[in-house]
Amino acid sequence: MRCPKCPGEMETKTYGRKITIHRCCECGGIFCQPDVLREMRREQMSEIVLDSGDPKVGGQLDKIGDINCPECGIAMDKTYDKNQTHIWYEQCGQCEGMYFDAGEFSDLKSDTFLDRIKDIIKGARPDT
Ligand SMILES: [Zn+2]
Ligand SMILES: [Zn+2]
Repeated sequence: MRCPKCPGEMETKTYGRKITIHRCCECGGIFCQPDVLREMRREQMSEIVLDSGDPKVGGQLDKIGDINCPECGIAMDKTYDKNQTHIWYEQCGQCEGMYFDAGEFSDLKSDTFLDRIKDIIKGARPDT
């Protein structure tokens, strides 16, 4: 599979039993399915193992918006995360595959983690 953003090859990477993604060996971009993304958000440390690309490279490639799905070859839609609107990613309307630039998944996950801590702190505080 060829990376949609650079001339690199997408390699298959697995984490645990449920997670299989494709990651570009050049730019570190990640291509995965929505159900796999849910698992990745649940698995601790998955971002360290799977999102190992350089966020600086990812940030540069984030400007490239018009890409084709590496699986289907059709144009992907640019969309953003409902909870974290600063994170833009590409999604295929046909196979629902999602493409994240290097560092974007870590960003997505670290914010989720921080939000959870905020919830815990709020929950532990007695009502005054
Ligand atoms: Zn690439
Ligand atoms: Zn597709």
